[in-house]
Amino acid sequence: MPNHFNAECIDCGHQVPYVPASPACPKCGSEWLEARYDYAEVAKRWPLELPGRSFNLWRYFDLLPVQTPNPAFSMGEGGTPLLRAANLGLMLGNANIYIKDERQGPTHSFKDRQAAVSIAALKEAGINELVLASTGNVAIAYSAYAARAGMRLWVFLTSLVPAVKMRETALYGAQVVKVTGSYDQAKQTAAEFARQRGIYLDKGARSIPCIESMKTIAFETVEQLTALAGSPGNPGSENAPLWKAPDWYIQSISGGMGPLGVIKGFDELMQMGLIDRFPKFGLVQVDGCAPMVHAWKQNKENAQAVIAPRTLIHTLATGDPGRTYALLRKKILAHAGGHFEMVSDDEAYRAMHILAKMEGLSVEPAAAVSIAGVIKMVRAGIIKPNETVMINCTGHTMPVERNILGEGWSKDLTLPSTNEMEEGKEEGLLAALSKVGIDRFPRIAIVDDNPDVRRLIRRILQSQGNYSLFEATNGREAVELARKEQPNLMILDLMMPEMDGFAVMDALKADVTTADIPIVVVTAKELTPSEKEHLRGHVQTLMQKGDFLSDDLLDEVRALLG
Ligand SMILES: *Cc1c(COP(=O)(O)O)cnc(C)c1O
Ligand SMILES: [Zn+2]
Repeated sequence: MPNHFNAECIDCGHQVPYVPASPACPKCGSEWLEARYDYAEVAKRWPLELPGRSFNLWRYFDLLPVQTPNPAFSMGEGGTPLLRAANLGLMLGNANIYIKDERQGPTHSFKDRQAAVSIAALKEAGINELVLASTGNVAIAYSAYAARAGMRLWVFLTSLVPAVKMRETALYGAQVVKVTGSYDQAKQTAAEFARQRGIYLDKGARSIPCIESMKTIAFETVEQLTALAGSPGNPGSENAPLWKAPDWYIQSISGGMGPLGVIKGFDELMQMGLIDRFPKFGLVQVDGCAPMVHAWKQNKENAQAVIAPRTLIHTLATGDPGRTYALLRKKILAHAGGHFEMVSDDEAYRAMHILAKMEGLSVEPAAAVSIAGVIKMVRAGIIKPNETVMINCTGHTMPVERNILGEGWSKDLTLPSTNEMEEGKEEGLLAALSKVGIDRFPRIAIVDDNPDVRRLIRRILQSQGNYSLFEATNGREAVELARKEQPNLMILDLMMPEMDGFAVMDALKADVTTADIPIVVVTAKELTPSEKEHLRGHVQTLMQKGDFLSDDLLDEVRALLG
């Protein structure tokens, strides 16, 4: 059976049948080949056939470099949910933030796509042994799929890769080689090992199956976004595209293979007329290893390698992106543009907390880097409030390490003695538990007539775990609540029907039992000079709605509670 695609050299344009074992252009020797399919044919087939296919990445087999996908090797890769991040959106003032939850793959990162397609393509070509270097997740994903397909796998990891990741790789039976040195050195060592032994080397962005696998993220996203957010344009018109593309694709990057493949996916969707616009690409690195960000900011075509990455987020420690950066930059500039951003390890950890507490998603630090990047880009006005943002939430959380939680994340609970327990039955235990609860924590009243705002502030405060919260939905309730519960702090909205925030403050001042309660005003209103005057002396902090982040609010609250 002839291939349903050809490999085309991106340097000289020469087209050849694809042969995994000798993946270089026979004409010019370039290792950069891209798969080309019969797009006109697929464009006709998909709208009719896709609805009947299962929702995993093999539903797009027409545009994948495998002739006959073997169901026995599959573990249900791809088909991850696209989740609306409503709480994060509320915090950022953007209602259209979506998270592609790649944690829900068989080994919990988006590398499952790469491993599934690569192992299938190699098996089909009769290749049974494979070498690769990895910052962690590629190793885990390939180990699992290699185990399933009965392939022998050599994995080269730097000794900096967290031990839990190394152990998981070893568990699947891969040969694990620890290289003391940087990831780039581990890559060189793996390449040399493969060359000496004549074993197939996975070349990441230069391997057709790797790039092709990542396209499926673009395909799934546009299908899911259309289902969630409605069809694009004018559905009645004959030329309306089938699917809706997001305004932004956001990803944390290391070597940059993910976005390179995703760009190819959007490119193909455009060529087939299935979408009518290209997303912008927002790519985020850690500041201790940000060669691509530096090159982008200096408008350079090539990135200068970072020799000694300085980050605890080793998944993202590719110091030398090689040609991938130049290709990414060229493609991004040729389409809708984009932005490269960097964040610190600490910003990533904070984003990890925010995502877990606001959206219920526990992700690994490398994935949280993308969230931290979005927060920065929204603040800087690069992402606009009405734009649709798709964040590739690339991977799972690991057993949580010390440096992520810091101190004080657990509370000591002293249980009553056995005697007390016997006398008081469970009441002794309940009493002990309640001591850990309410009474020890500062009491905060949240006053706002808008339930969404109350919920948001509650979430932000709860994310710290250590407050007793009360809510009032109007001014009168607020004053009553203050008298009865004696909060240590009130977070107050100014604009409420009947009794507004100004009136609440006057009422609190007039009563000695409530006069000293510190007040944080959170308002959507631009204040007049006389209103500002009215606030003076009453209010400790004034925050503009939609303009503050949870950390700002927490900092204020902590400062006021002393
Ligand atoms: C591999 C990986 C990245 C980086 O992806 P690239 O596209 O290879 O740069 C980010 N996050 C996680 C969790 C990863 O496993
Ligand atoms: Zn060539």
